[in-house]
Amino acid sequence: MSECIFCKIINKEIPSQVVFEDEYVLAFKDINPVAPVHLLIIPKKHMESLNDIEVVDEALIGHILMVAKKLAQESGIADSGYRVVNNCGDDGGQVVKHLHFHLIGGQPLGIKIC
Ligand code: 5GP
Ligand code: ZN
Repeated sequence: MSECIFCKIINKEIPSQVVFEDEYVLAFKDINPVAPVHLLIIPKKHMESLNDIEVVDEALIGHILMVAKKLAQESGIADSGYRVVNNCGDDGGQVVKHLHFHLIGGQPLGIKIC
């Protein structure tokens, strides 16, 4: 049994507010939103971080970005703008060690470091 909190969310062992699901990815509302729209998009296949993706995962990563675009449109933030964020590793501020992409928007976003 996986101890990974996001694998537990995928397996519905922990409840979440799912906004999109298919064979490859799950998207759900962040439990601690930093903006009016704050979704997490994760691969169903467990991998710790961006460091662990391989060539075989190229289509999966592209699919995640297509899902981000679709969810931005459906959330009504596509025109006003948004961020897709991946925090990788300790210096990147990654807390949950299951690859995930934040989709954040619905207000002007603050500190812009790059
Ligand atoms: P990180 O800092 O690793 O890039 O982002 C992890 C995100 O997962 C945080 O924004 C945090 O609020 C969210 N999170 C952590 N645990 C849970 C949970 O059990 N359910 C949901 N929906 N989000 C979670
Ligand atoms: Zn996991």
